[in-house]
Amino acid sequence: MQITKPHAVLLASPGMGHLIPVLELGKRLVTHQDFHVTVFVVAVDVSGENISKLLDSSSEHLDVLMLPTVDISGIVDPDENFVIKIVVTMHESLSAIRSAICGMKIRPTALIVDLFGTEAMAIADELEMLKYVFIASNAWFLAATIYGPAVDKKVLDDEHINQKKPLKIPGCTPIRFEDTLEAFLDPNDPLYHGYLSVGRVIPTADGILVNTWEDLESKTLRALKDDKLLGCVARTTVYPIGPLARAVEAVAENQVLEWLDMQPTESVIYVSFGSGGTLPSKQMMELAWGLEQSQQRFIWVVRPPLENDVSGSFLTVGNGPVGTVDYLPNGFMNRTHNVGLVVPMWAPQAQILEHPSVGAFLSHCGWNSTLESIVSGVPMIAWPLYAEQKMNATMLTEEIGMSVRSRELPTERIVEREEIEMMVRRVMVMDKERHAMKNKVKELKNSALKASSKGGSSYNSLSQLTKDCENRFQCLKVKAEG
Ligand code: UDP
Repeated sequence: MQITKPHAVLLASPGMGHLIPVLELGKRLVTHQDFHVTVFVVAVDVSGENISKLLDSSSEHLDVLMLPTVDISGIVDPDENFVIKIVVTMHESLSAIRSAICGMKIRPTALIVDLFGTEAMAIADELEMLKYVFIASNAWFLAATIYGPAVDKKVLDDEHINQKKPLKIPGCTPIRFEDTLEAFLDPNDPLYHGYLSVGRVIPTADGILVNTWEDLESKTLRALKDDKLLGCVARTTVYPIGPLARAVEAVAENQVLEWLDMQPTESVIYVSFGSGGTLPSKQMMELAWGLEQSQQRFIWVVRPPLENDVSGSFLTVGNGPVGTVDYLPNGFMNRTHNVGLVVPMWAPQAQILEHPSVGAFLSHCGWNSTLESIVSGVPMIAWPLYAEQKMNATMLTEEIGMSVRSRELPTERIVEREEIEMMVRRVMVMDKERHAMKNKVKELKNSALKASSKGGSSYNSLSQLTKDCENRFQCLKVKAEG
């Protein structure tokens, strides 16, 4: 096929939480910006129903291609942290990425990688393509990631990590030690050094796309542009292009949605910990009791408990059997069957949050989930578990005011049933507090819509990126013809 428009290759690292936003970016580039897009999917396992549905997203100008799966079993211990598994899988996939690009009839104009794909930017250099990094999270997270390696080591290691002082980032809200990125926690961990090198490489891209918008994070975005603040660290153009939240597509005959159709308006709390979140068994029990005692309707996406790994299902959730739910309190299912629905492993989240019967979302605060809640106008209970989720929870609760959260972090202490019951009531029962959260989130929903619509700040930002790619496309065309 003759490609007559700019062509971007997007690289998605393993995990549904990574693939979903990259696909959304691909769709946005095709529908709003007239790009041709190829998404390369790097996956650990593609046998699951959910992932194969996503791989079916190809359309006229969007090709979704699976790269050959690589066997990392001889390199990485099966019990290793999922981040290490992703990093190694991406590294081992580099030659397949290079061959796939070289095998294309017309060289793509740009390579857009996610946070775990920065090593592939060398391929873009070699093949004279533009290279961009897509941060599927917010600008505050981006600021912390690129500022980490730039800050004096004494400040990061001694003051922030050892003395637990907040990390001051020029022009941004400081990060409290309790909220800091997991990767910063241990200077002796290879992850710490790996993460700092990624933070160093990101600014070498031709641009950084970030899944946020001006009205949501104006202060941080200003700091990223200002050379007297973070501009000299970012060094490249930052394009706020969000929110890229998942488009709500029709789902054929889904039991959960049919159940929601029968519930009163805003009467159901949706409980889910994203694609990776898992809780220890005692916490699962307390959550079950808290939901039951709150006497509110609920939908709860459950996973078998894990004792010491809150991100335990990140690479496996789309795959494998659902199993039986035998880890909840005795009789819980019977006692709650009129008011609650327990869904094993995976539910159509974007559709659920958009449903008028949903009144609140108890979430691990993954950025995709957060954006889906915002664009659906749904207030939250912030229950952060890993990665940058503690920063997100603080932003949502303390800066924005669209969520409540437990007194102590759920990763530090089991949150007990009474506190859960209280949080569910605060976010579900219509009083001044819920009213304020609801208003706040509605305001954000409107500003999100405006930013992504034609002429809005994120729309314009993506158009600017397109212009840069078009210029490069024309240069390549002239070169090829001459
Ligand atoms: N998701 C879903 N059904 C589930 C759990 C998650 O559709 O049962 C989707 C959710 O809508 C979101 C993504 O998976 O788009 C999770 O991304 P997020 O950034 O919230 O968290 P992560 O999984 O990366 O920790």
